[in-house]
Amino acid sequence: MHQKLPKEIDPLRLAQNGLKFDGQILLSDMPRLAKSLHSDSGLVDVALAFDIDEIGTPYVKGEFRAPVSIVCERCMLPMSMELSVSCLLAMVVSEKFIDKLAEQYDPWLLENSEPVSLSKVVEDELILVLPLVPRHTEACLPSEAWSTKLDYNEDEEDQKPVSPFAILSSLKKQ
Ligand SMILES: [Zn+2]
Repeated sequence: MHQKLPKEIDPLRLAQNGLKFDGQILLSDMPRLAKSLHSDSGLVDVALAFDIDEIGTPYVKGEFRAPVSIVCERCMLPMSMELSVSCLLAMVVSEKFIDKLAEQYDPWLLENSEPVSLSKVVEDELILVLPLVPRHTEACLPSEAWSTKLDYNEDEEDQKPVSPFAILSSLKKQ
């Protein structure tokens, strides 16, 4: 059964009921992720399927996809890329159960029975796939930018910005 995304979830109960959700979450609802992005506008596509496996482990299978704009650390210009996550998380109520999980699972530690913010869970997974050093795949800086770094100040002297007052007075003369 497919449902719209709730803001807060009770993961164990959703697993017991075998519920599936899909929908979208605003990137602006994920401030910790947005901090690493050029812009927080956009949407994350989210699909979640909760269930219990044959040995009784409650789990969720998640697929998250977000087209984002991120600043290239080489040329400092924004570039578009897609963050994409497929995860299989098994719910555990204590760290001591983590070692006992079947190897296909990553642990999802639920320390209490409080409702969980869905956007936080998705945000945590997306942060894990952020590139450590985002860079355009193509050579994005002209090679001169590296070799003429020492001459740069002289160039700057030649290109004095036009004073706004000069522009204003030339407009008045017309
Ligand atoms: Zn670049």
